[in-house]
Amino acid sequence: MYVVKFEDLNKSDIGIAGGKGANLGELTQAGIPVPPGFVVTAQAYEKFMDEAGINDSVMGILDKIDINDTKALQAAAEEIKKIIIEAPIPEDLVLFIREYYNELCQRVGEDDTDVAIRSSATAEDLPEASFAGQQDTFLHVSGDDEVIEYIRKCWASLFEARAIFYREENDFEHSKVYIAVVVQKMANADKAGVMFTVNPSTGEEIALIEGSWGLGESVVSGDVTPDNYQVDKKDNEIINVTISDKKVMYTNDENGTSIKVDVPDELRKERVLSDEELIELTEMGKRVQAHYGEPMDTEWAFEKGNLFLLQARPITTLGDVVEEAADESSDLGDVLVRGLGASPGMASGVVKIVLDIDELDKIKDGDIMVTTMTTPDMVPAMRRASGIVTDEGGVTCHASIISRELGIPCVVGTGDATTTLEENSGVTLDGKKGLVFEGISETKEEAQVQAGAVEAAPIITVTEVKANVSMPEAAEKAAATGADGVGLLRTEHLMLTSGIHPGKFIADGEEDKLIDTIADNVQIVADAFYPRPVWYRTLDAPTDEFITLEGGENEPREHNPMLGWRGIRRELDQPEILKCEFKAIKKLHEKGYTNIGIMIPLSQSPEELKQAKALCSEVGFEPHKDVEFGMMVEIPAAAIMIDEYIKVGIDFVSLGTNDLTQYTLAVDRNNEFVAKHYSEEHPAVMKLIERTIRKCAEAGVKCSICGQAGSVPHIVEKLVEFGITSVSSNTDAIADVRKTVARAEQKIILDAARKRLE
Ligand code: PEP
Ligand code: MG
Repeated sequence: MYVVKFEDLNKSDIGIAGGKGANLGELTQAGIPVPPGFVVTAQAYEKFMDEAGINDSVMGILDKIDINDTKALQAAAEEIKKIIIEAPIPEDLVLFIREYYNELCQRVGEDDTDVAIRSSATAEDLPEASFAGQQDTFLHVSGDDEVIEYIRKCWASLFEARAIFYREENDFEHSKVYIAVVVQKMANADKAGVMFTVNPSTGEEIALIEGSWGLGESVVSGDVTPDNYQVDKKDNEIINVTISDKKVMYTNDENGTSIKVDVPDELRKERVLSDEELIELTEMGKRVQAHYGEPMDTEWAFEKGNLFLLQARPITTLGDVVEEAADESSDLGDVLVRGLGASPGMASGVVKIVLDIDELDKIKDGDIMVTTMTTPDMVPAMRRASGIVTDEGGVTCHASIISRELGIPCVVGTGDATTTLEENSGVTLDGKKGLVFEGISETKEEAQVQAGAVEAAPIITVTEVKANVSMPEAAEKAAATGADGVGLLRTEHLMLTSGIHPGKFIADGEEDKLIDTIADNVQIVADAFYPRPVWYRTLDAPTDEFITLEGGENEPREHNPMLGWRGIRRELDQPEILKCEFKAIKKLHEKGYTNIGIMIPLSQSPEELKQAKALCSEVGFEPHKDVEFGMMVEIPAAAIMIDEYIKVGIDFVSLGTNDLTQYTLAVDRNNEFVAKHYSEEHPAVMKLIERTIRKCAEAGVKCSICGQAGSVPHIVEKLVEFGITSVSSNTDAIADVRKTVARAEQKIILDAARKRLE
């Protein structure tokens, strides 16, 4: 059978029609409406290769290539594709394809109807093997000659460089991988989106629907924030409708090509799906789930009031990971793992799973590092990685902070990436959306450049916009943004260059070495920013993070490290380390780096501030007189008692909203299970922030923010209204934050002027 209609295929036909073709057949047979079409089978491809007599020449080229020689691989791929494009297609096959296409045109009542032509590869011995996203898809093909031409292009795409690479890497024999081609009527959707037939995080029997205007591409690719709906499947009760501002949509231009356009103003905030449509979708979801006997992830479209399903696949590992239908217009494969987008950008590479610190050497340049949770001593390996995926963590966890600073795309809190992703398999991660796709994407380099790009913004603001820095090597890039200083220099990572726990220096009587380590690293940052201010934050080392350092084996094992021995409370118990830090900053001041201030972390009582200042004086470095001395507000107690702190004497305050949020809401910021409850915008957190800012303003104490909320423009807007004096953001957010600050400041001026006129 060389060409088969969807109606005559079912899910057991993977060997003939590939996974995609078999699935469309299965849906059609189950009476689920899918746009009609047919499959040019894997056997048709085999026949073509045999009768054209090109098998030997193609396999001969493949035998010789070294897949790690990128240029040679590309050249071989081009050569093979040329052979395929130039070979004759057996006449009977051509006739079959014409006949089926013409029959499809008749069925839909359109001459030369637009079709999508998709590759659906399959392996002879392993029909279940997935090659998703590696071969091409062509949209809006019309007319039988074009259809034949693009089917041939799909065949040729079996030999794209990335596909050859993937098969070699995964030990698939090239000669045993075939390709079927799906030819399907294009859906010209008026509205489209995705539906999970159960809640993918909880497994609840609720249809979770996302929808937006135009073709589904906008939703699947993440170009829009779609409307979000939840329907209880028991009684079809609509339990949630969240309408979003949908800015862009995909539609077909007069040539039938899909283009991205602005959503007309009147539709932007308009609800996409009516109650009736939601119920129709939910009913269809129930049918699909009943048919497959398991919860499904689907892609749907409404065209002129008619509902179609475009994709359906099981939701894998329910509870934390869902598969997502791949973007049909991109080269990304299936979603393998889903987590929280922690550092924006795309990255492709080979998975290396690191379960133990000894395995760090596995990470070579450009690999994707997959680990339970990163620790500070993993930083050198993280630097080599092109992307990072962790099982645990939230967007303010260590892995997130460091990868943002390194400009490496990162997905955290996936739950089980270390067990789900396969060692040495090729993946692509989207650090914005928090997705890990199967396969290597060819577009990653472009995306990475974008992710690392820093926009220069010649905008002047009265509220200072500063940068957060954790690693000396990130200082240049941060300074190049024109940031007004460093609002947070995290010390934890500066200490790591030695690979030795700070406590070990003290235990070994090597204070001077510790002082030099700190001073040398801080100097790099102070240099990059001089004369702009740099606020050095004294060590805030949770016990679980420093455990793997040399000397770290003595760290206590705490039940709740986040609530444990860290921050200033720990430093006051180990004053020798804190004194070395003060001495290091003093040394730098003496060298002329008077732009460095000191800030203490995680204080819960004004008494701690008093004691820290006394220790600073003890080393001959007088707070306020010799050095600016400030504190972080990270514990609700500090926000509530800010007046008492001000009485003790502080030059500045910086809001550490990462910790302030976790302590106000009782949500461990590192725990992916509660990540959904973590919100800096919770009214209680916002109240503490506002209170702190206003109290500081009244007392003439500078107030800043250096938690992640300071990188979120719409929160920053509110902070400016409250009267914050500076905002310290991640390097990648500085340009946006600066614009937001400027706009918020102008709004305040404008509002005041209008008031006067009233
Ligand atoms: C914070 O808590 O908001 C903060 C900036 O400190 P860290 O993220 O290092 O705990
Ligand atoms: Mg903190």
